[in-house]
Amino acid sequence: MTGAHVGALPVDVHLPIAFGGIRVSIAASAMRPSTSLLGNRRKIEDMTKVPCKTCSEMILPTTAAINDGLCMPCKGGYRNSMEESKRRNEREAAHRQTPTYRHWTWLVQQAHGDGIGFATLSEENKLFFAINTLIGEVYNGGFHQYFGNSASDYYDKCIAGLHQIGAERSLALLVEAAKAIWGNEPVPKSQAARLEKLNDDSWLDASVLDRLDGLDRAFWKDEDGISSLASEYRVRHNIDYGF
Ligand SMILES: [Zn+2]
Repeated sequence: MTGAHVGALPVDVHLPIAFGGIRVSIAASAMRPSTSLLGNRRKIEDMTKVPCKTCSEMILPTTAAINDGLCMPCKGGYRNSMEESKRRNEREAAHRQTPTYRHWTWLVQQAHGDGIGFATLSEENKLFFAINTLIGEVYNGGFHQYFGNSASDYYDKCIAGLHQIGAERSLALLVEAAKAIWGNEPVPKSQAARLEKLNDDSWLDASVLDRLDGLDRAFWKDEDGISSLASEYRVRHNIDYGF
């Protein structure tokens, strides 16, 4: 917040003007004082900026005068949330530079993008990917969403993976969710076949949905610490090496 426009029109403002019955826009720049005058005025304002009483951000005296010495974010009470979101953005930007993140992006491309495909991944990568897509889907929309999505194309790998990392509670919940929908039948490999069952209201009644809902909630309790177990597996097998 520079406050540079106090008393002057913002450069990009277009004012609607009635012109021969047709409304046209004329840039405010066409009507303001010559740029050199304005430039001089800006320079003077810059030199006389004063620090905000709270955060020391340099602000215009006019801003300070109307805000009791505070910058707009401090006056409005959103300085802390601005700083927090700035720090969050910085953390996220830093995370995008890590091997862990680049490895994950690569896995997603292999499975869904125009990469060489899931089938050619190493076994460790397959299990790691299958576990993480389960986590993503169930936290986002529960087991119903997981089974309706392509993530559960890798159901068998997910079962094997959860067993490998020792997430036994999550594994039991996943198997129970599959049972709630398919009974003792295997989970269909194709998404179309799974969706056919999931979209069939003739059997998918409130009691099934309640059961799935309870399983979602139990999964969200995260008794295994499933993400940590998955991360430990990644580290143990060094699958993001070189990314
Ligand atoms: Zn401030």
